[in-house]
Amino acid sequence: MTDADNAMDGVEAPQADLETLSSLAKRRGFAFPSAELYGGFASTYDYGPLGVEMRRNIRDSWWRRMVQQRSDVVGLEAAIVTNPAVWRASGHVEVFTDPLVDCLNCQGRFREDKLEDRTCPNCGAKDRFTAARDFNLLMRTFVGPVEDDAAVAYLRPETAQGMFVNYDNVQQTMRRRLPFGIAQIGKSFRNEITTGQFIFRTREFEQMEMEFFCRPEQGLEWHRYWKEERLAWFRSLGVRPERLRIRDHEQKELAHYSKATSDIEYRYQWGWDEIEGVAHRGDYDLTAHANASGKRLTYFDPDTNEHIVPHVVEPAVGVDRVMLMLLMDAYDEETDDRGETRTVLHLAPQVAPVTVAVLPLSRNERLVPTARRIWDVLRPHFRTQYDDAQSIGRRYRRQDEVGTPLCVTVDFDTLDDDAVTIRQRDSMAQSRVPVSGLVEALRGAVEAMTPVVEPPAPSPFED
Ligand code: ATP
Repeated sequence: MTDADNAMDGVEAPQADLETLSSLAKRRGFAFPSAELYGGFASTYDYGPLGVEMRRNIRDSWWRRMVQQRSDVVGLEAAIVTNPAVWRASGHVEVFTDPLVDCLNCQGRFREDKLEDRTCPNCGAKDRFTAARDFNLLMRTFVGPVEDDAAVAYLRPETAQGMFVNYDNVQQTMRRRLPFGIAQIGKSFRNEITTGQFIFRTREFEQMEMEFFCRPEQGLEWHRYWKEERLAWFRSLGVRPERLRIRDHEQKELAHYSKATSDIEYRYQWGWDEIEGVAHRGDYDLTAHANASGKRLTYFDPDTNEHIVPHVVEPAVGVDRVMLMLLMDAYDEETDDRGETRTVLHLAPQVAPVTVAVLPLSRNERLVPTARRIWDVLRPHFRTQYDDAQSIGRRYRRQDEVGTPLCVTVDFDTLDDDAVTIRQRDSMAQSRVPVSGLVEALRGAVEAMTPVVEPPAPSPFED
């Protein structure tokens, strides 16, 4: 499962590859190949019960930190299929393309900028490609009953444009002064050429994006602020800091309108790659929509009495990619003194799909009702799971493999002393606690396993 290159860059712990993770994800109900019944569907996944819980946790954590805990960001949910004029104005219809090449040897199709040493990832042929053609990644659909060109619409390839076209609505209705941000979480669609990377790159994916509108002269400072702030969020999820870095784009990589763009990168099993983009987009988008719509998209500054076009800093990240990164970062295979191996996900409690598993020692008819009563007590307080199938050892292993931080075991002594055993996932340490104090004890144990969360830094500018 591990890669010889894992020791590179001084990162010692071995990492699971995509095959190991996708097989665990399928076996344990995180993610299934979409419509597997029909042979699947390229680069598309259906999320199972545990995956769904984990994704909600990721979204909630992002939303709390980016919106609810801040005073300067508000939320939005825009339509996925909207007026195609939006995508003409944003440039997506014309230039949202990747360079597509065909391998002359095996006819495989690839993204030219993702080839290594101009070698075909499929057949290994070197330098045997057609010239690159621009391939537009927009997914087209038809709206209304007539399938003609007039009815063409697009599935959004990013959530960001929803914020730009609603800039004025939000600013006016919420009476916002600069700087302020608009955040959105939702599905996006791209007809990606490069496939086969599990949930790292899929054709339907979910984004968490925020457009932060500010005075032009403050843009670069806010760009610096947001890179650091986003990095702090990843650390708060328990991601190993040595596997995170910021890569500032070089001048030649920048889009013509961008003053600065940075990727937050994670060291995946295959090497450093993007997890999030933090882009300084200048006034490009608001100006483009103002020109195309003929409406004024400016900000009136009451202090200086001037109308300005705000500049924008955009942190944009994918739920699916964060999920993959967390699984990869948390995955471990540990061998004990007796040579027995367990697979364990060391997930931070706030992202783990299940927080507490309730396990009666056996399916004994006296234990089961007691365990179920304890489960009833815990359900309002934690994400729980009840499991009484197979031996207790196998059930611990199952919970370890899905990253459950704590197990509560109900045994025959419980019937006499009304106490249960709490087992901690990482240390496997066990402690006995009375049922009357169980919720409290579990809360304490969860807190002890939660990474320290640094609060967002204050604004770099005085109010
Ligand atoms: P790439 O160059 O890898 O295709 P990008 O730079 O075009 O990606 P952005 O448009 O900046 O990506 O999207 C912001 C974030 O959205 C990415 O950092 C990633 O987390 C997520 N994302 C983008 N495309 C996909 C995809 N096809 N599948 C899953 N997540 C994606």
